[in-house]
Amino acid sequence: MTIGILADASPENRVALTPENIAALAAVSKEPVMLEKGAGLRAFFSDADYQTAGAVVALREEVLGRADVLVSVNRPLDVPSGKVLVGGFNPLGDPDGARQLASCGLAAFSLDIIPRTTRAQAMDILSSMATVSGYRAVLLAATHLARFFPMFMTAAGSIKPAKVLVIGAGVAGLQAIATARRLGAVVEASDVRAAAKEEVLSLGAKFVEVEGAREDAGAGGYAVEQTDDFKKRQQAEVEKRAAQADVILCTAQIPGRKAPLIIPAGAVANMKPGSVIIDLAASSGGNCELTKNGETILAGGVTIIGDSNLAAGMPADASRMFGKNMVNFLKILYKDGQLNLDDELVAGTCVCRNGELVHERVRALAGTAAG
Ligand code: NAD
Repeated sequence: MTIGILADASPENRVALTPENIAALAAVSKEPVMLEKGAGLRAFFSDADYQTAGAVVALREEVLGRADVLVSVNRPLDVPSGKVLVGGFNPLGDPDGARQLASCGLAAFSLDIIPRTTRAQAMDILSSMATVSGYRAVLLAATHLARFFPMFMTAAGSIKPAKVLVIGAGVAGLQAIATARRLGAVVEASDVRAAAKEEVLSLGAKFVEVEGAREDAGAGGYAVEQTDDFKKRQQAEVEKRAAQADVILCTAQIPGRKAPLIIPAGAVANMKPGSVIIDLAASSGGNCELTKNGETILAGGVTIIGDSNLAAGMPADASRMFGKNMVNFLKILYKDGQLNLDDELVAGTCVCRNGELVHERVRALAGTAAG
């Protein structure tokens, strides 16, 4: 079996495997890993780095033709049928793209839908990329904020620390809290999962209590849609805190659904001029009513940045984390020379096979559910 690393199309800067991953793949395949020429360059990994690690560099056509298992960060459009493809294809957010993978006759595995079990943590690209995004969101906010983050006591007077409100205390939110705290901000955070409270407090932030959140044990640790009554009370609580905040970091999401609207335009109007909102949920509608995906706008003196792809802006370490997740998955993908579909993580990650969408939720979203 030969593994081939494809170059992702610009503007993607990450690469699905790094030179550091090549040696570990000897346990998966005796054949050398193939690399599309220049695939790692935008993440600052040269072809020579991969060659030194034992990979063979070739043109794209050759990699597409000779490799059995192709890896990429995003969905490629030119992989020939019969191949196995592994990456992060966002099938829950882009079911049409998933349908195209199926119609191309690929066996496609998308690591962003891996079941969220303890064993899966080492392969979970969503967590890895959320870690990068949460960290970068704070740095981005700090550079746009018209104020300091930390408290300062100087000969020129005292400066109060910035107040940061984090919406959603999952992987990105917790990393954002930790990073904002390291920069000296006073942080509070809101989440609908009761379990998030302890994690927020352990990072030295305050938890914004709103009674009556719905939780579903069957949702695999994810949040679920809330009642209208809860939404109203949460919005009122957030609006109060937004008026005091210098920075709001939005990370609240519900997989496969529109992001919950938590900061209405009215709350932005009451924010201090010079404050900043970073909306990581922008690509699924945003937590802020005024967010424009992929844009930075100024609304009444408040800078609102809608960017769900902040991980791509730190491509070296983001690729290292992605690559490590990928290696761990490739190690379980095959058993005795066959796709190991008896493994719940392999099966749960499979988007399509033999021309059919096989992932139940993706099938439902793509409108092709059986029956
Ligand atoms: P996510 O990106 O889907 O959502 C981000 C956060 O937003 C979540 O904490 C969610 O509860 C919150 N949220 C959703 N709606 C909200 C609302 N209306 N108001 C406020 N907050 C709202 O989530 P995630 O970061 O991927 O993590 C979700 C859960 O999965 C966490 O419990 C995390 O620890 C767990 N997890 C488990 C594994 C694993 O076991 N393999 C891996 C990663 C994450």
